Amino acid sequence: MQLPDGAAALRAQIVAVGTELVTGDTVDTNSAWLAGRLTDLGIDVRGHATVGDHEHELLTVLRAATTGSDVVVVTGGLGPTPDDLTRFAVARLAGVALERRPALVDDIRAYFADRGREMAETNLVQADLPAGAQVIDPVGTAPGFVLRVAGVLLVCLPGVPAEMRQMTERGVVPLLRRHGGLSATVRRTVRTAGIAESTVAERCAELFARLSRTNNTQLAFYSSRGETRVRVTARARDEPAAHALTDPIVAEVVQLLGAAVVGLDDEGVESVIARQLQQRGWTLAVAESITGGGVGARLVSVPGASEWFAGGVIAYATASKPTLAGVPERVLAEHGPVSEETAAALATGVRDRLDADAALAVVGVAGPTTQGRRRVGTVCPAVALPADVVRTRTVRLSPRSRQDLQQFSASVALDYLRRCLAAVQGG
Ligand code: AMP
Ligand code: MG
Repeated sequence: MQLPDGAAALRAQIVAVGTELVTGDTVDTNSAWLAGRLTDLGIDVRGHATVGDHEHELLTVLRAATTGSDVVVVTGGLGPTPDDLTRFAVARLAGVALERRPALVDDIRAYFADRGREMAETNLVQADLPAGAQVIDPVGTAPGFVLRVAGVLLVCLPGVPAEMRQMTERGVVPLLRRHGGLSATVRRTVRTAGIAESTVAERCAELFARLSRTNNTQLAFYSSRGETRVRVTARARDEPAAHALTDPIVAEVVQLLGAAVVGLDDEGVESVIARQLQQRGWTLAVAESITGGGVGARLVSVPGASEWFAGGVIAYATASKPTLAGVPERVLAEHGPVSEETAAALATGVRDRLDADAALAVVGVAGPTTQGRRRVGTVCPAVALPADVVRTRTVRLSPRSRQDLQQFSASVALDYLRRCLAAVQGG
């Protein structure tokens, strides 16, 4: 598949500056946000670097980032304190002096005067920019700036995430558009559940290889909490052209993955279940053990959930299962709390007690110790439908943390419900 393509994409690197980022005290959210924003603009983000507040290392990282790039975006280290070194490192990289900008001095003085706050003279260091730099207007007190260094567009922004984002939208995006070389990138997501990431990749292998040979379309796989996402990306001169590239690829992925496909883009399993129930005019009840309310929390994340979600119980301790959901003592004694039989009894029990049409129950072993004969990672979802149709399953998840197992179990249960509803509804 050779596709129409514009000029080669601009190559970008992102540099996050701050010792708190390097030590792990603060999570670097700026790089992730910037990477997404630049990708949307059709810029090819090639790498990220994180560096502490040390001038020598900062200079080294900036040198490496500018090598082979068209654009480098730096965040952090533009404040007034002695550990804010970005302006000094950039001036050294460019081999120019810092010069104090009178207009920025006035802005900074006015900012403090407006708020009736005393201004420390050290704040004026924020008016010092490398010679030749163009100002990006501040949102707080720290202005950003853009400087061309050996043909590379070097953009420096403050680290405060909200300031950085606003300054990117107002100052950087327009500048990149004027600079040219942008295109539109469309990213679509095919969401799957109940299928291993390796199986997803295997079924898409031929398509993956085919797209890898193009320079403007691409497939990628991401897994978390028991859901695998297939990301389809296309770059073209404008958005409609990029959509024209992604649409047939998305359709092909959906066809390759069949029943494992939950939804597209923002459509998670919760909203699919909402639609399935509403199509039938059914209400749903839940009885949760291993997930401790996690299934209910995910269901109520859908706006308007009260129209179809009747409610549920957290029947956690074994003794609560008969009390809260009417599980017969005999079932517990014969099969144990983590069994398909107990899950089925929970589902029918809660369905009847809440007078719902359908119910989902989930039991399992989150660890750290085994429960009777059942190993950690054993999960049994059960779905009760009208006319006493009950379906159950046993899934064995590979070892992971207790919290991951709880979240994964909620995904397993919800996907099982989705599949059961799809089977009843014939698709
Ligand atoms: P700075 O501009 O380096 O003075 O940073 C100002 C504030 O923004 C500090 O509280 C930082 O922890 C925060 N910050 C800086 N860089 C980042 C980043 N990459 N991601 C999230 N927060 C950041
Ligand atoms: Mg800092």
